[in-house]
Amino acid sequence: MTRPQSQRTAPLLLAPIPTEAARPFLSLLHAFAAMGDTGRAVPCSTDPDGFYHDLRVVRALAVPLCRDCPVLTACGAYADAAGERFGVWGGRDRSAAMGRAPAGPTASA
Ligand code: SF4
Repeated sequence: MTRPQSQRTAPLLLAPIPTEAARPFLSLLHAFAAMGDTGRAVPCSTDPDGFYHDLRVVRALAVPLCRDCPVLTACGAYADAAGERFGVWGGRDRSAAMGRAPAGPTASA
C-alpha cells in the first residue's frame, strides 16, 4: 500500500563533515548548547530561506542578519574548515566567495 503524499516523510539528508572540520563542528555544537534556555534563536533558523536562496541579491539581504547571532564566530570557523560553498555562513555569502553565479534570473532581468 502506498501512503498518500501528505503522510510520506522526507529522507533526512546529512552532508558528510570533512575530517578537518570535525573540531570546528563540535565547537559550533557547543556554541549552540551554550545558548541554552536563553530564548534566543539563530536568525537562519527563524527565517532560513534567504540564507540559502539561489539569488545572490537575496542572500546579500541575509548576511547582515548574522551580525547579532550568538554563534557567529563558531559558525564562520566551521564554514571555513568545511569549505562550505553555498549559502550564508558566519556572516559571509560563501557562494559569492566561490564566484558562483546566481542560479536564477537577476534582479535587473
Ligand atoms: S552566523 Fe551562522 S548560525 Fe548564525 S545566523 Fe549566520 S549562518 Fe546562521
